[in-house]
Amino acid sequence: MRLKDKSALVTGAGSGIGKSIAEAFAREGACVATADLNLSAAQMVSEQINLAGGRAIHLQMDVADEDQVNAGAEQVVREFGALDLLVSNAGIQIINPIVDFSFADWRKLVAIHLDGAFLTTRAAMRAMISQGRGGTILYMGSVHSHLASPNKSAYVAAKHAIVGLAKAVAKEGAKHGIKSNIICPGFVRTPLVEKQIPEQAQQLGITEEEVVKKVMLGQTVDGEFTSMEDVAATAVFLASFPSSALTGQSIMVSHGWFMH
Ligand code: NAD
Repeated sequence: MRLKDKSALVTGAGSGIGKSIAEAFAREGACVATADLNLSAAQMVSEQINLAGGRAIHLQMDVADEDQVNAGAEQVVREFGALDLLVSNAGIQIINPIVDFSFADWRKLVAIHLDGAFLTTRAAMRAMISQGRGGTILYMGSVHSHLASPNKSAYVAAKHAIVGLAKAVAKEGAKHGIKSNIICPGFVRTPLVEKQIPEQAQQLGITEEEVVKKVMLGQTVDGEFTSMEDVAATAVFLASFPSSALTGQSIMVSHGWFMH
């Protein structure tokens, strides 16, 4: 029960990595708010947590909407009495060469990843500072926070930018006991990635098997996908780490694909 008496807000918790982190936090004793654009998905996850003996609520939240983010954070504080942990995880992927990338798609992706990270951070920091007991903010980065792949310009740019935000939060949050780190997974087999396999095969002119073997796993040390459990275990570790020795850091969880 490493997160007993903690209250967490996890965005994009209706699916994939966010769902897995919400469940892992609940198993460690945290009260968890599952926030997602998709309310029924967020609800399903919170119901599963409650059925398993944990404590969860669900929220409809578009992380790119200032009012929804602020209202959601306030609701978490009202329901659980505090907000100690934020996992800014909600995200999408849009794949296209730069020359064919529409401005609307660029803005949509950057709004969800970067505006969403900022808005949830600001709401969480305000709550954490007024509570006066510190807190932890975790961002879902990516290997693409540190390197680039073709056809992912908006994603690569936004994920790199979140590294900067995490460092800025570490600096400004320190005097309030607020830590911030960014988790950078390699490919994890979630709906976000399943959708990309045929898209990348078409754009790169290779088979789906080659996309998996060469593009997604070719640079790992063992040819393995990163698992949702790998990422959730890292989030629990960082959320329960006792000091500020680990703050402003990028933690790579990528089977050796990217090494600092
Ligand atoms: P996913 O598609 O399984 O889940 C993403 C969730 O975010 C969905 O439930 C979706 O409804 C929600 N969401 C989308 N837009 C939203 C918005 N505006 N507001 C609130 N919620 C919204 O994807 P995933 O693979 O679990 O991705 C989660 C995070 O992990 C993303 O930030 C992604 O970039 C990152 N990531 C994924 C991988 C991977 O290989 N899957 C690797 C590195 C990083």
